[in-house]
Amino acid sequence: MAQQAEIQKKDAATAERYSRQILFRGIGEAGQRRLAATRMAIVGCGATGSALAGLLARAGVGTLRIIDRDYVEASNLQRQSLFDESDARESLPKAIAAERKIAAFNSQIKVEAKVDDLVPANIQALLEGMDLILDGTDNFETRYLINDYAVERSIPWIYSAAVGSYGVTLNVIPGETACLACIFPNSPRGMVETCETSGILNSAVNLVASIAATEAIKFAVGGKDAPTFRRTLLSFDVWTNDRAEISAAKPRAGCRTCGERDFIHLAGEGRPHITLCGRNSVQIHERQRPIDFVELNRRLQPHGAVRHNDFVLKFWRDPYEMTLFPDGRAIIKGTTDTAVARSLYARYVGS
Ligand SMILES: [Zn+2]
Repeated sequence: MAQQAEIQKKDAATAERYSRQILFRGIGEAGQRRLAATRMAIVGCGATGSALAGLLARAGVGTLRIIDRDYVEASNLQRQSLFDESDARESLPKAIAAERKIAAFNSQIKVEAKVDDLVPANIQALLEGMDLILDGTDNFETRYLINDYAVERSIPWIYSAAVGSYGVTLNVIPGETACLACIFPNSPRGMVETCETSGILNSAVNLVASIAATEAIKFAVGGKDAPTFRRTLLSFDVWTNDRAEISAAKPRAGCRTCGERDFIHLAGEGRPHITLCGRNSVQIHERQRPIDFVELNRRLQPHGAVRHNDFVLKFWRDPYEMTLFPDGRAIIKGTTDTAVARSLYARYVGS
């Protein structure tokens, strides 16, 4: 009986929390239950990922798996809405900071934080069991990888991108609509401008995330055949008010990915283990190499400033700043020369 009462109390609290959303005709009580039963992955938790995670967590998506390779910095705070100054001071991994922040405003949902770089070798483990994948990344390489995986496994996903004052988003329903490679057979060169080179308006990010999160909610409530689940590529510019929408209802004939099912990104051949990752920095993820932070902290003391918490170890040696994760992955700031990054890593961490 006590247990019964406890369940009723919990149900009432849930109904109260989501009452304004349940009142909305498109969702209702049944829709809210479907949201609670849905599992979504958000790949990348920067500006777009933060906004997506914040909206979807508050809306009551039952399971959110947040995958991010990076840590919080002060320059993120202008637009990455889940983080605050203390996260930046601690250099918390974004996935961990996001999990903590969400727990503070919605402890009823499950958040799975994954501090990792999504690559062909781990994509299955990281995206397994998800009903929908959302793009919070900042690069086409990862988007093509997600597209390959989603098309191969027939898992719907939502592409979102924002740079400057411009945002663009697309729902991909494998086997039905155009996939990312139907629309952009090759990485769009004109769009290689990034937040580092062109800056970004937080409002452009939030708009694209709002649209994508709404599409995700429609999908959770009504499935891929929900009548209002968008089948176009939608783009807009919040500064000029330009807006465009092109049909993506059908795959492009001869698409290498969804037509020929040639998943070159998933095969990951020739994929470098050392990559540029924006912000004048290089990432090293050569192999899994578990690191003992206490031991390394002691070893690095004579060579520069060093500190660590459970999630990252930071080491400063002018003009470089090295951030290490427990699995041995590193982000080295202060250079875009992979050879320099590799030698720093070899010298201070090991080869
Ligand atoms: Zn395609």
